[in-house]
Amino acid sequence: MDFAISDSMTELLGQLRRFVDEHVVPLEPALAGGFFALQPELDEVRALARDRGWWLPQLPKEAGGMGLSVLEHGLVSEVLGRSPLGHYCLGCQAPDAGNMEILLEYGTPAQKAQFLAPLLAGDTRSCFAMTEPEFAGSNPVILGTKARRDGDHWVLDGHKWFTTGADGAAFAVVMAVTEADAAPHERASMILVPTDTPGFERVRNISIMGEPGDGWASHAEVRLTNVRVPVDNLLGAAGKGFAIAQARLGPGRIHHCMRWMGICDRVFDLMTHRAITRDLGGGRGTLAEQGTIAAWIAEAKAQIESTKLLVLRAAWTIDHRGMKAAAEDISLIKFHAADVMLRLVDRAIQVYGAAGITDDHVLSWYYRHERGARIYDGPDEVHKAVVARRIFSRMRKGQA
Ligand SMILES: Cc1cc2nc3c(=O)[nH]c(=O)nc-3n(C[C@H](O)[C@H](O)[C@H](O)COP(=O)(O)OP(=O)(O)OC[C@H]3O[C@@H](n4cnc5c(N)ncnc54)[C@H](O)[C@@H]3O)c2cc1C
Repeated sequence: MDFAISDSMTELLGQLRRFVDEHVVPLEPALAGGFFALQPELDEVRALARDRGWWLPQLPKEAGGMGLSVLEHGLVSEVLGRSPLGHYCLGCQAPDAGNMEILLEYGTPAQKAQFLAPLLAGDTRSCFAMTEPEFAGSNPVILGTKARRDGDHWVLDGHKWFTTGADGAAFAVVMAVTEADAAPHERASMILVPTDTPGFERVRNISIMGEPGDGWASHAEVRLTNVRVPVDNLLGAAGKGFAIAQARLGPGRIHHCMRWMGICDRVFDLMTHRAITRDLGGGRGTLAEQGTIAAWIAEAKAQIESTKLLVLRAAWTIDHRGMKAAAEDISLIKFHAADVMLRLVDRAIQVYGAAGITDDHVLSWYYRHERGARIYDGPDEVHKAVVARRIFSRMRKGQA
Protein backbone atom coordinates (compact mmCIF):
# COMPACT_ATOMS: atom_id res chain seq x y z
CA MET A 1 0.00 0.00 0.00
CA ASP A 2 1.55 3.26 -1.13
CA PHE A 3 0.10 6.66 -0.25
CA ALA A 4 2.90 8.58 -1.97
CA ILE A 5 1.67 11.39 -4.17
CA SER A 6 3.27 13.11 -7.14
CA ASP A 7 5.26 16.33 -6.85
CA SER A 8 2.54 18.16 -8.78
CA MET A 9 -0.06 16.91 -6.29
CA THR A 10 2.08 18.06 -3.36
CA GLU A 11 2.36 21.46 -5.00
CA LEU A 12 -1.38 21.60 -5.66
CA LEU A 13 -2.18 20.79 -2.03
CA GLY A 14 0.15 23.57 -0.85
CA GLN A 15 -1.42 26.07 -3.22
CA LEU A 16 -4.92 25.04 -2.20
CA ARG A 17 -4.03 25.37 1.44
CA ARG A 18 -2.86 28.96 0.88
CA PHE A 19 -5.96 29.64 -1.22
CA VAL A 20 -8.28 28.44 1.54
CA ASP A 21 -6.44 30.45 4.19
CA GLU A 22 -6.25 33.65 2.10
CA HIS A 23 -9.59 33.68 0.28
CA VAL A 24 -12.06 31.31 1.94
CA VAL A 25 -11.44 31.54 5.69
CA PRO A 26 -11.86 35.37 5.68
CA LEU A 27 -15.44 34.91 4.42
CA GLU A 28 -16.46 32.77 7.37
CA PRO A 29 -17.55 35.54 9.78
CA ALA A 30 -20.05 36.76 7.16
CA LEU A 31 -21.66 33.32 7.07
CA ALA A 32 -23.57 34.34 10.20
CA GLY A 33 -25.54 36.72 7.92
CA GLY A 34 -26.73 33.79 5.80
CA PHE A 35 -25.62 31.95 2.70
CA PHE A 36 -27.54 34.05 0.16
CA ALA A 37 -26.05 37.29 1.50
CA LEU A 38 -22.57 35.81 1.11
CA GLN A 39 -23.14 34.38 -2.36
CA PRO A 40 -21.66 37.29 -4.37
CA GLU A 41 -18.36 37.01 -2.48
CA LEU A 42 -18.44 33.23 -2.78
CA ASP A 43 -18.95 33.55 -6.54
CA GLU A 44 -15.87 35.75 -6.74
CA VAL A 45 -13.79 33.18 -4.89
CA ARG A 46 -15.20 30.44 -7.12
CA ALA A 47 -14.15 32.44 -10.18
CA LEU A 48 -10.63 32.80 -8.75
CA ALA A 49 -10.42 29.05 -8.16
CA ARG A 50 -11.65 28.26 -11.66
CA ASP A 51 -9.11 30.65 -13.20
CA ARG A 52 -6.44 28.50 -11.58
CA GLY A 53 -7.97 25.30 -12.95
CA TRP A 54 -9.42 24.24 -9.60
CA TRP A 55 -12.98 23.16 -10.28
CA LEU A 56 -14.88 19.92 -9.67
CA PRO A 57 -11.96 17.98 -8.13
CA GLN A 58 -14.22 14.92 -7.76
CA LEU A 59 -14.87 14.50 -11.48
CA PRO A 60 -12.89 13.18 -14.45
CA LYS A 61 -11.31 15.65 -16.85
CA GLU A 62 -13.77 14.71 -19.62
CA ALA A 63 -16.56 16.07 -17.41
CA GLY A 64 -14.70 19.31 -16.74
CA GLY A 65 -13.20 18.04 -13.49
CA MET A 66 -9.63 17.73 -12.23
CA GLY A 67 -9.24 14.01 -13.01
CA LEU A 68 -7.98 13.02 -9.56
CA SER A 69 -7.90 9.53 -8.07
CA VAL A 70 -10.11 8.86 -5.03
CA LEU A 71 -7.04 9.18 -2.80
CA GLU A 72 -5.96 12.44 -4.41
CA HIS A 73 -9.45 13.87 -4.15
CA GLY A 74 -9.47 12.77 -0.52
CA LEU A 75 -6.38 14.89 0.10
CA VAL A 76 -7.95 17.86 -1.68
CA SER A 77 -11.10 17.35 0.37
CA GLU A 78 -9.01 17.46 3.53
CA VAL A 79 -7.53 20.84 2.60
CA LEU A 80 -10.94 22.24 1.60
CA GLY A 81 -12.43 20.93 4.83
CA ARG A 82 -10.38 23.51 6.72
CA SER A 83 -13.26 25.88 6.08
CA PRO A 84 -17.04 25.17 6.05
CA LEU A 85 -17.02 27.01 2.68
CA GLY A 86 -14.03 25.24 1.12
CA HIS A 87 -15.90 22.62 -0.89
CA TYR A 88 -18.44 25.11 -2.16
CA CYS A 89 -15.65 27.28 -3.57
CA LEU A 90 -14.44 24.44 -5.81
CA GLY A 91 -17.93 23.19 -6.77
CA CYS A 92 -17.62 19.88 -4.92
CA GLN A 93 -20.06 20.50 -2.07
CA ALA A 94 -22.61 17.91 -0.94
CA PRO A 95 -25.20 17.11 -2.17
CA ASP A 96 -24.33 18.53 -5.61
CA ALA A 97 -21.14 16.49 -5.93
CA GLY A 98 -23.07 13.24 -5.55
CA ASN A 99 -25.85 14.38 -7.86
CA MET A 100 -23.28 15.27 -10.53
CA GLU A 101 -21.78 11.81 -10.22
CA ILE A 102 -25.08 9.98 -10.68
CA LEU A 103 -26.21 12.23 -13.52
CA LEU A 104 -22.90 11.62 -15.30
CA GLU A 105 -23.22 7.88 -14.82
CA TYR A 106 -26.94 7.33 -15.36
CA GLY A 107 -28.31 10.47 -17.03
CA THR A 108 -29.64 10.46 -20.60
CA PRO A 109 -28.16 13.02 -23.02
CA ALA A 110 -31.28 15.17 -22.56
CA GLN A 111 -31.04 14.97 -18.74
CA LYS A 112 -27.37 15.86 -18.91
CA ALA A 113 -28.14 18.90 -21.05
CA GLN A 114 -31.02 20.09 -18.87
CA PHE A 115 -29.83 19.26 -15.37
CA LEU A 116 -26.14 18.34 -15.34
CA ALA A 117 -24.57 20.99 -17.59
CA PRO A 118 -25.70 24.03 -15.52
CA LEU A 119 -24.78 22.16 -12.33
CA LEU A 120 -21.25 21.49 -13.57
CA ALA A 121 -20.95 25.11 -14.65
CA GLY A 122 -21.83 26.22 -11.12
CA ASP A 123 -24.88 28.10 -12.39
CA THR A 124 -27.35 26.00 -10.40
CA ARG A 125 -27.52 23.92 -7.25
CA SER A 126 -29.45 20.72 -6.63
CA CYS A 127 -30.73 18.64 -3.75
CA PHE A 128 -31.36 15.00 -2.93
CA ALA A 129 -34.73 14.13 -1.39
CA MET A 130 -34.85 10.65 0.07
CA THR A 131 -35.42 10.88 3.83
CA GLU A 132 -38.96 11.25 5.17
CA PRO A 133 -40.02 12.32 8.66
CA GLU A 134 -42.54 9.48 8.97
CA PHE A 135 -40.15 6.61 8.20
CA ALA A 136 -36.76 5.48 9.52
CA GLY A 137 -34.18 6.99 7.20
CA SER A 138 -31.57 4.45 8.26
CA ASN A 139 -33.64 1.78 6.50
CA PRO A 140 -34.86 3.84 3.54
CA VAL A 141 -36.45 0.94 1.67
CA ILE A 142 -39.66 2.03 3.36
CA LEU A 143 -40.79 5.24 1.69
CA GLY A 144 -44.15 6.99 1.69
CA THR A 145 -43.43 9.04 -1.45
CA LYS A 146 -45.05 7.49 -4.50
CA ALA A 147 -44.79 8.25 -8.21
CA ARG A 148 -47.47 6.89 -10.52
CA ARG A 149 -47.47 6.86 -14.30
CA ASP A 150 -50.14 9.01 -15.94
CA GLY A 151 -49.65 8.99 -19.70
CA ASP A 152 -46.36 10.70 -20.45
CA HIS A 153 -45.89 11.89 -16.89
CA TRP A 154 -44.90 10.76 -13.43
CA VAL A 155 -47.17 12.14 -10.73
CA LEU A 156 -45.45 12.38 -7.36
CA ASP A 157 -46.96 12.70 -3.90
CA GLY A 158 -44.96 12.60 -0.71
CA HIS A 159 -43.27 14.27 2.20
CA LYS A 160 -39.50 14.67 2.59
CA TRP A 161 -37.20 16.31 5.06
CA PHE A 162 -33.55 17.04 5.62
CA THR A 163 -33.33 17.84 1.94
CA THR A 164 -30.01 19.65 2.15
CA GLY A 165 -29.74 22.79 0.04
CA ALA A 166 -33.33 22.61 -1.30
CA ASP A 167 -33.61 26.35 -0.63
CA GLY A 168 -32.58 27.86 -3.97
CA ALA A 169 -31.92 24.53 -5.68
CA ALA A 170 -32.95 24.25 -9.33
CA PHE A 171 -34.00 20.62 -9.08
CA ALA A 172 -34.33 17.72 -6.68
CA VAL A 173 -33.40 14.10 -7.20
CA VAL A 174 -36.46 12.55 -5.56
CA MET A 175 -36.59 8.96 -4.37
CA ALA A 176 -40.12 7.67 -4.89
CA VAL A 177 -41.78 4.27 -4.99
CA THR A 178 -42.69 3.37 -8.57
CA GLU A 179 -42.64 -0.43 -8.32
CA ALA A 180 -44.80 -1.10 -5.26
CA ASP A 181 -44.95 -4.88 -5.86
CA ALA A 182 -41.23 -5.45 -6.35
CA ALA A 183 -38.77 -6.66 -3.70
CA PRO A 184 -38.16 -3.96 -1.06
CA HIS A 185 -34.82 -2.84 -2.55
CA GLU A 186 -36.30 -2.55 -6.02
CA ARG A 187 -39.37 -0.47 -5.31
CA ALA A 188 -37.94 3.03 -5.49
CA SER A 189 -36.73 5.05 -8.45
CA MET A 190 -34.93 8.37 -8.77
CA ILE A 191 -36.90 11.08 -10.51
CA LEU A 192 -35.58 14.51 -11.47
CA VAL A 193 -37.98 17.20 -10.32
CA PRO A 194 -37.41 20.89 -11.10
CA THR A 195 -38.20 22.76 -7.90
CA ASP A 196 -40.45 25.22 -9.75
CA THR A 197 -42.83 22.39 -10.76
CA PRO A 198 -46.33 23.13 -9.41
CA GLY A 199 -46.94 21.10 -6.24
CA PHE A 200 -43.26 21.07 -5.18
CA GLU A 201 -43.39 23.00 -1.92
CA ARG A 202 -40.44 23.85 0.31
CA VAL A 203 -42.37 23.95 3.57
CA ARG A 204 -39.52 25.39 5.66
CA ASN A 205 -35.85 25.30 6.38
CA ILE A 206 -35.69 23.13 9.48
CA SER A 207 -34.24 24.96 12.44
CA ILE A 208 -31.17 23.08 13.67
CA MET A 209 -29.93 23.95 17.14
CA GLY A 210 -31.53 27.35 16.80
CA GLU A 211 -30.48 28.03 13.20
CA PRO A 212 -32.73 27.46 10.16
CA GLY A 213 -29.96 28.59 7.79
CA ASP A 214 -30.63 29.42 4.15
CA GLY A 215 -29.60 28.39 0.66
CA TRP A 216 -26.99 25.68 0.45
CA ALA A 217 -26.44 25.91 4.21
CA SER A 218 -29.90 24.63 5.15
CA HIS A 219 -31.98 21.48 5.30
CA ALA A 220 -35.57 21.70 4.12
CA GLU A 221 -38.86 20.01 4.72
CA VAL A 222 -40.48 19.45 1.33
CA ARG A 223 -43.99 18.41 0.34
CA LEU A 224 -44.85 17.01 -3.07
CA THR A 225 -48.51 17.24 -4.02
CA ASN A 226 -49.61 16.03 -7.43
CA VAL A 227 -46.24 17.01 -8.89
CA ARG A 228 -46.19 16.17 -12.61
CA VAL A 229 -42.93 15.68 -14.49
CA PRO A 230 -42.26 14.03 -17.88
CA VAL A 231 -41.60 10.27 -17.84
CA ASP A 232 -38.18 11.08 -19.30
CA ASN A 233 -37.19 12.53 -15.92
CA LEU A 234 -36.64 9.03 -14.56
CA LEU A 235 -32.92 8.77 -13.71
CA GLY A 236 -31.57 5.30 -14.48
CA ALA A 237 -33.89 2.30 -14.63
CA ALA A 238 -37.17 2.07 -12.74
CA GLY A 239 -36.72 0.34 -9.39
CA LYS A 240 -32.96 0.98 -9.32
CA GLY A 241 -33.05 3.97 -6.99
CA PHE A 242 -31.28 2.21 -4.13
CA ALA A 243 -28.62 0.65 -6.34
CA ILE A 244 -27.83 4.11 -7.71
CA ALA A 245 -27.91 5.65 -4.22
CA GLN A 246 -25.38 3.07 -3.02
CA ALA A 247 -23.04 3.86 -5.91
CA ARG A 248 -23.30 7.52 -4.91
CA LEU A 249 -22.51 6.91 -1.25
CA GLY A 250 -19.19 4.99 -1.47
CA PRO A 251 -16.78 7.70 -2.65
CA GLY A 252 -19.04 10.29 -0.98
CA ARG A 253 -18.14 8.83 2.41
CA ILE A 254 -14.42 9.14 1.65
CA HIS A 255 -14.98 12.80 0.70
CA HIS A 256 -16.89 13.43 3.94
CA CYS A 257 -14.31 11.64 6.08
CA MET A 258 -11.41 13.57 4.56
CA ARG A 259 -13.41 16.79 4.91
CA TRP A 260 -13.75 15.92 8.59
CA MET A 261 -9.99 15.39 8.76
CA GLY A 262 -9.63 18.90 7.34
CA ILE A 263 -11.91 20.14 10.11
CA CYS A 264 -9.70 18.29 12.59
CA ASP A 265 -6.58 20.01 11.22
CA ARG A 266 -8.17 23.43 11.47
CA VAL A 267 -9.58 22.82 14.93
CA PHE A 268 -6.26 21.36 16.07
CA ASP A 269 -4.42 24.48 14.87
CA LEU A 270 -6.91 26.74 16.64
CA MET A 271 -6.72 24.72 19.84
CA THR A 272 -2.92 24.67 19.80
CA HIS A 273 -2.67 28.37 19.09
CA ARG A 274 -5.09 29.13 21.90
CA ALA A 275 -3.12 26.90 24.25
CA ILE A 276 0.17 28.72 23.67
CA THR A 277 -1.34 32.23 23.81
CA ARG A 278 -3.88 32.05 26.63
CA ASP A 279 -2.15 33.00 29.85
CA LEU A 280 -3.87 31.93 33.06
CA GLY A 281 -2.15 34.65 35.05
CA GLY A 282 -0.81 34.53 38.56
CA GLY A 283 2.34 32.76 37.39
CA ARG A 284 0.45 29.71 36.21
CA GLY A 285 1.60 30.22 32.64
CA THR A 286 -0.28 29.49 29.45
CA LEU A 287 -2.78 26.72 28.88
CA ALA A 288 -0.05 24.87 27.00
CA GLU A 289 1.89 24.63 30.25
CA GLN A 290 -0.93 22.76 31.95
CA GLY A 291 -0.38 19.01 31.78
CA THR A 292 -4.00 18.19 30.98
CA ILE A 293 -4.11 20.49 27.97
CA ALA A 294 -0.72 19.33 26.70
CA ALA A 295 -1.93 15.73 26.90
CA TRP A 296 -5.10 16.64 24.96
CA ILE A 297 -2.96 18.13 22.21
CA ALA A 298 -0.78 15.03 21.96
CA GLU A 299 -3.78 12.69 22.05
CA ALA A 300 -5.56 14.73 19.39
CA LYS A 301 -2.51 14.57 17.12
CA ALA A 302 -2.36 10.78 17.44
CA GLN A 303 -6.09 10.44 16.76
CA ILE A 304 -6.04 12.71 13.71
CA GLU A 305 -2.99 11.12 12.10
CA SER A 306 -4.11 7.53 12.68
CA THR A 307 -7.62 8.27 11.42
CA LYS A 308 -6.23 9.91 8.28
CA LEU A 309 -4.25 6.78 7.55
CA LEU A 310 -7.41 4.68 7.88
CA VAL A 311 -9.29 6.97 5.51
CA LEU A 312 -6.44 6.98 3.01
CA ARG A 313 -6.33 3.18 3.16
CA ALA A 314 -10.02 3.08 2.23
CA ALA A 315 -9.41 5.54 -0.62
CA TRP A 316 -6.39 3.55 -1.85
CA THR A 317 -8.45 0.34 -1.76
CA ILE A 318 -11.19 1.94 -3.90
CA ASP A 319 -8.56 3.16 -6.39
CA HIS A 320 -6.74 -0.17 -6.65
CA ARG A 321 -9.24 -2.88 -5.74
CA GLY A 322 -12.67 -1.34 -6.30
CA MET A 323 -15.57 -0.22 -4.17
CA LYS A 324 -16.60 -3.70 -3.01
CA ALA A 325 -13.18 -4.45 -1.57
CA ALA A 326 -13.32 -1.20 0.39
CA ALA A 327 -16.80 -1.72 1.88
CA GLU A 328 -15.65 -2.65 5.38
CA ASP A 329 -13.05 0.12 5.54
CA ILE A 330 -15.66 2.64 4.39
CA SER A 331 -18.00 1.66 7.24
CA LEU A 332 -15.10 1.70 9.68
CA ILE A 333 -14.00 5.22 8.79
CA LYS A 334 -17.55 6.57 8.56
CA PHE A 335 -18.22 6.15 12.28
CA HIS A 336 -14.64 6.46 13.51
CA ALA A 337 -13.70 9.66 11.65
CA ALA A 338 -16.96 11.34 12.70
CA ASP A 339 -16.30 10.39 16.32
CA VAL A 340 -12.70 11.68 16.26
CA MET A 341 -13.80 14.95 14.63
CA LEU A 342 -16.69 15.62 17.02
CA ARG A 343 -14.66 14.82 20.14
CA LEU A 344 -11.95 17.15 18.94
CA VAL A 345 -14.39 20.00 18.26
CA ASP A 346 -15.78 19.56 21.76
CA ARG A 347 -12.29 19.56 23.27
CA ALA A 348 -11.25 22.65 21.33
CA ILE A 349 -14.33 24.46 22.64
CA GLN A 350 -13.29 23.49 26.15
CA VAL A 351 -9.80 24.92 25.56
CA TYR A 352 -11.35 28.18 24.33
CA GLY A 353 -13.59 28.46 27.37
CA ALA A 354 -16.66 30.66 26.96
CA ALA A 355 -15.28 32.07 23.71
CA GLY A 356 -15.55 28.57 22.23
CA ILE A 357 -19.32 28.55 22.27
CA THR A 358 -19.68 32.01 20.78
CA ASP A 359 -20.12 32.58 17.08
CA ASP A 360 -16.91 34.63 17.10
CA HIS A 361 -15.04 31.44 16.25
CA VAL A 362 -15.71 28.73 13.72
CA LEU A 363 -15.80 26.12 16.50
CA SER A 364 -19.47 26.74 17.31
CA TRP A 365 -20.37 26.40 13.62
CA TYR A 366 -18.68 23.00 13.53
CA TYR A 367 -20.35 21.97 16.77
CA ARG A 368 -23.81 22.75 15.39
CA HIS A 369 -23.39 21.75 11.79
CA GLU A 370 -21.25 18.65 12.11
CA ARG A 371 -23.17 16.82 14.81
CA GLY A 372 -25.14 15.33 11.95
CA ALA A 373 -21.98 13.52 10.78
CA ARG A 374 -22.83 10.62 13.07
CA ILE A 375 -26.29 10.39 11.52
CA TYR A 376 -26.25 11.09 7.77
CA ASP A 377 -24.91 8.64 5.19
CA GLY A 378 -25.69 5.85 7.64
CA PRO A 379 -25.82 6.35 11.42
CA ASP A 380 -22.86 5.07 13.49
CA GLU A 381 -24.80 2.06 14.70
CA VAL A 382 -25.56 0.82 11.20
CA HIS A 383 -21.90 1.03 10.14
CA LYS A 384 -20.75 -0.61 13.36
CA ALA A 385 -23.21 -3.46 12.73
CA VAL A 386 -21.81 -3.88 9.18
CA VAL A 387 -18.23 -4.06 10.45
CA ALA A 388 -19.08 -6.41 13.33
CA ARG A 389 -21.10 -8.72 11.05
CA ARG A 390 -18.13 -9.12 8.73
CA ILE A 391 -15.73 -9.74 11.64
CA PHE A 392 -18.01 -12.42 13.13
CA SER A 393 -18.51 -14.02 9.75
CA ARG A 394 -14.76 -14.30 9.14
CA MET A 395 -14.25 -15.71 12.63
CA ARG A 396 -16.96 -18.34 12.06
CA LYS A 397 -15.28 -19.33 8.79
CA GLY A 398 -11.91 -19.49 10.52
CA GLN A 399 -10.60 -16.56 8.44
CA ALA A 400 -10.00 -14.12 11.26
C1 LIG B 1 -27.06 17.22 8.45
C2 LIG B 1 -27.92 16.22 7.74
C3 LIG B 1 -28.09 16.31 6.37
C4 LIG B 1 -28.91 15.42 5.69
N1 LIG B 1 -29.11 15.56 4.33
C5 LIG B 1 -29.95 14.74 3.69
C6 LIG B 1 -30.27 14.94 2.30
O1 LIG B 1 -29.74 15.85 1.65
N2 LIG B 1 -31.19 14.13 1.72
C7 LIG B 1 -31.79 13.12 2.40
O2 LIG B 1 -32.61 12.41 1.81
N3 LIG B 1 -31.53 12.90 3.73
C8 LIG B 1 -30.65 13.68 4.38
N4 LIG B 1 -30.39 13.51 5.72
C9 LIG B 1 -31.12 12.48 6.44
C10 LIG B 1 -30.26 11.26 6.81
O3 LIG B 1 -29.99 10.51 5.66
C11 LIG B 1 -31.06 10.48 7.87
O4 LIG B 1 -31.15 11.30 9.02
C12 LIG B 1 -30.38 9.17 8.23
O5 LIG B 1 -30.50 8.25 7.16
C13 LIG B 1 -31.01 8.54 9.49
O6 LIG B 1 -32.39 8.45 9.35
P1 LIG B 1 -33.35 9.02 10.50
O7 LIG B 1 -32.93 10.41 10.82
O8 LIG B 1 -34.74 8.81 10.05
O9 LIG B 1 -33.05 8.15 11.78
P2 LIG B 1 -33.71 6.75 12.17
O10 LIG B 1 -33.67 5.81 11.01
O11 LIG B 1 -35.01 7.01 12.83
O12 LIG B 1 -32.67 6.23 13.24
C14 LIG B 1 -32.53 6.89 14.50
C15 LIG B 1 -31.35 6.32 15.25
O13 LIG B 1 -31.58 4.94 15.48
C16 LIG B 1 -30.35 4.27 15.54
N5 LIG B 1 -30.36 3.15 14.60
C17 LIG B 1 -30.83 3.14 13.34
N6 LIG B 1 -30.65 1.94 12.77
C18 LIG B 1 -30.06 1.18 13.69
C19 LIG B 1 -29.62 -0.19 13.72
N7 LIG B 1 -29.73 -0.98 12.65
N8 LIG B 1 -29.07 -0.66 14.86
C20 LIG B 1 -28.95 0.14 15.96
N9 LIG B 1 -29.34 1.42 15.98
C21 LIG B 1 -29.89 1.93 14.87
C22 LIG B 1 -29.26 5.28 15.20
O14 LIG B 1 -28.68 5.77 16.39
C23 LIG B 1 -30.03 6.37 14.52
O15 LIG B 1 -29.39 7.64 14.64
C24 LIG B 1 -29.55 14.37 6.40
C25 LIG B 1 -29.35 14.26 7.79
C26 LIG B 1 -28.55 15.17 8.45
C27 LIG B 1 -28.38 15.03 9.93
